[in-house]
Amino acid sequence: MQIETWTSGVLVYKTQASPGTTFHRRAMSETRGTVWLSVVLLLVLVDHKRWQVTARAPLTDNVAEALIDTSGDFPTYQVRDIEPEDADVSFFKGLTEIKQLTNVSLDDEKPQSRVLYTGWQTWRVYLSKDSQMDIISQMKDQGAVDTWGGNKSAIDIAVRPAAIEEVSAMLARNNIKHEVMLDDVQRAINEENPTSDDDTNDRKGHRLTWQAYHKTAVIYGYLEHLTTTYPNLCSVKTIGMSVQNRPIKLLKISNGKPGNKAVWVDGGIHAREWITPATVTYIINHIVSNFENEPKYIQDTDWYITPVANPDGYEFTHSTDRLWRKNRARSGGQCAGTDLNRNFGYKWGGKGSSKNPCTQIYAGTGPFSEPETAAIQRFIQGTKVPWKAYVSFHSYGQYILYPWGYENAVPTDHRDLEAVGRRAAAAITAAGGPRYTVGPAGSTLYPAAGGSDDWAKGVAGFKYSYTIELRDTGRFGFVLPASYIQPTAEEALAALRVIVEAAQKA
Ligand SMILES: [Zn+2]
Repeated sequence: MQIETWTSGVLVYKTQASPGTTFHRRAMSETRGTVWLSVVLLLVLVDHKRWQVTARAPLTDNVAEALIDTSGDFPTYQVRDIEPEDADVSFFKGLTEIKQLTNVSLDDEKPQSRVLYTGWQTWRVYLSKDSQMDIISQMKDQGAVDTWGGNKSAIDIAVRPAAIEEVSAMLARNNIKHEVMLDDVQRAINEENPTSDDDTNDRKGHRLTWQAYHKTAVIYGYLEHLTTTYPNLCSVKTIGMSVQNRPIKLLKISNGKPGNKAVWVDGGIHAREWITPATVTYIINHIVSNFENEPKYIQDTDWYITPVANPDGYEFTHSTDRLWRKNRARSGGQCAGTDLNRNFGYKWGGKGSSKNPCTQIYAGTGPFSEPETAAIQRFIQGTKVPWKAYVSFHSYGQYILYPWGYENAVPTDHRDLEAVGRRAAAAITAAGGPRYTVGPAGSTLYPAAGGSDDWAKGVAGFKYSYTIELRDTGRFGFVLPASYIQPTAEEALAALRVIVEAAQKA
């Protein structure tokens, strides 16, 4: 059984069923769990969902459509366009090909047991020549390590417990130095969010705090709370639905003055970067509750803010896998998830992105193939306002990055972007914060095509487009303790002020 091809969302599954093989309902349930022959079983194994499929039986050339539901304990199916009595025989006789056309169910996936990272370590690996990166890539392909953050001179890797000795020996053999950052990733995960109180503490009319990381429902509850508390300033709009049918919510903050410049801010494009929705909501809270005392460039801006751009992925990091990065799309068969920050439609599919659904940087089946990125595109391009600044928060590494990301190249007005970026970094240190490195994304980190900032600059017409990689520089990485939310968000706000002030003059 193999996946033959994937193009534009259509998967072709080839089975080894010989012509004339008949599938019965009973047989299907009894053979569940084995891999021989059954197309339906393949769908069970990979998807746990309902699928609308068409199938062609080459002996009779019958084409039929079926709805296969693999969300229950046993797969069931309904065949359309054929008499139900004949369904078993006609539909599956001689079947050698089945096409997945549409995932018809947007139900949540089956609960999976929590992924534990007990004994995993994160290491900083120092690279002195390009060929050393190939060694890391090799170990990654073998599943021994995962890459976290880093740049051309040092990269952080997460090492599987069983591979620690082997990876260490491999690095030593190639004269690659490393140091241990987290000696047990699971312990860091257990300790990062000690005071989460999502189910309690509703005294303020919402349950959001900035002493803990919270789930999407709490963040959305806070946004709704703002619309009732500040009805003349705040409104909430759902700009689209995620793969699993969760709303992608946008908060607009506006004093309603005509002629306001428009600024876009998002967080949570990458699910495991928990500091970003926390930072974005902190910024929202600050602007809204101090609005009267804010300078003109803050007041006379129309703010469009999406704190959780990838709600499925974000929920999955809370329920199941703390280190999940992508969305929860199933376009790639056996591996879930598209990297939303490789899915935007500018130079899509280029360097630093992958066509392999099983990688962390899978770009999707095409530009904006994912509902989460498509929602952002649709809203920005469909809203005729003077867009000036696009700011996307990510973590980690402490970088203020501007286009281009797809290549070691810069746009013609790169001096403006660099100057404002530097002023933003200076504002951070002036406020007592740490050093943030400023530069074009492609050459400062590594080329990565399909990023949101490139699209914002290259297609959507934002003059100032930035990706800000928040704290830290790798000690905790993605598992930044909740006690860091407040200082990180404070410095992010200081940087954002500089960008928005520049946007006012753009
Ligand atoms: Zn990111």
